[in-house]
Amino acid sequence: MSTYRAAQIVEPAPAPLQTKQLPIPTPKGEEVLIKVIAGGVCHTDLHEWQAGYEMSTKTKMKALHPGFHYPVTPGHEVSGIVEKIGEGVHDLSVNDHVVVYAWIGCGEADCDRCSKGRENYCERKRREIGFYYNGGYGEYCLVPHYKYCVKFDPQKLNPEKACVLGCSALTTFTAIKRAYNRLKEHNIERATIGLIGIGGLGVMALQLLKNYLKPKLEQLKIVCLDKHESKLELAKEQGADEVVLVKDHMDIQSVKTKCLHPTGADVVIDLVNNPSTATLGIDMLRAGGSLLEVGLMGGSIDLPLPSLILKVFSIEGIYVGSLPDLKELVKLAEQGAIQPVIDRKYDIDEATQALKDLEAGKIQGRCLIVSQK
Ligand SMILES: [Zn+2]
Ligand SMILES: [Zn+2]
Repeated sequence: MSTYRAAQIVEPAPAPLQTKQLPIPTPKGEEVLIKVIAGGVCHTDLHEWQAGYEMSTKTKMKALHPGFHYPVTPGHEVSGIVEKIGEGVHDLSVNDHVVVYAWIGCGEADCDRCSKGRENYCERKRREIGFYYNGGYGEYCLVPHYKYCVKFDPQKLNPEKACVLGCSALTTFTAIKRAYNRLKEHNIERATIGLIGIGGLGVMALQLLKNYLKPKLEQLKIVCLDKHESKLELAKEQGADEVVLVKDHMDIQSVKTKCLHPTGADVVIDLVNNPSTATLGIDMLRAGGSLLEVGLMGGSIDLPLPSLILKVFSIEGIYVGSLPDLKELVKLAEQGAIQPVIDRKYDIDEATQALKDLEAGKIQGRCLIVSQK
């Protein structure tokens, strides 16, 4: 039987990932076997390795989803080439380039979420690639249904960089569409959007704000906040209108003066979501503003309930995105709306180092796991 190389989480951190030789699966029915071109390394992979999120200051969520278990090949940002298809596959051929939609729910026709293209909201069963199915930190990846393979043109979209569309770009795209709906709801044309955390997701968010939202809202002002100077330098290069270095005990009014209205931002997208960034996000909002929580860093905040009413603000969680949104995003990326920033590539054998470097804040944009550097 032929085998392939994959980095697997066998035990929680600090135990390193193990490079294993796994049997190459044969796709059956509607399944598709992908030869992986690149697997993006996401912060969620760190939580997966560390066996959970900090839900409050006291408790740890022990697993990401029911059904998730070790050993598993992480990697939910996957681009690749179709290697083999099952006998029930349509609209997809061997050698097609694809981005994998990883946020798979039960997939049943009678599920009111999955049947309407909202698998990321499925309450019946979570079957995400990289958690439930083996993911992109390996040479091959078996996708359970061809509908989760979104084709792209390799002449228009770099096949390695394309992997980030599956999570960091998709998640931020969802947040930006939500932000646009909020601004329309309030009839706001001169808007400020604050972005907290200019890592892999932040860079994608900034590019999509500039190339997708700014053409719709010409007076949009984008204010980027981070605690690392180097990330703010990147934000400036990528076209942020203002940058703010986040420090302990910040003067919030000085942050607000960077917004179009000195009362604050209309929408804040928090790509970190820990107690200090969520608190900063709320403090930055204007009346009627929305805090969109995208990151999954963890922790809890003390929220005075009357403030929700008196300041008329909302907090909303964004969990990745839908399959139709990924298809729309791939089209936008083919037209050049996003240029993923790839810091470095790691071999499958170096997956543990990649996760450690990400945790240490050493990665600008995204890093990738590849089988050949
Ligand atoms: Zn992710
Ligand atoms: Zn479902």
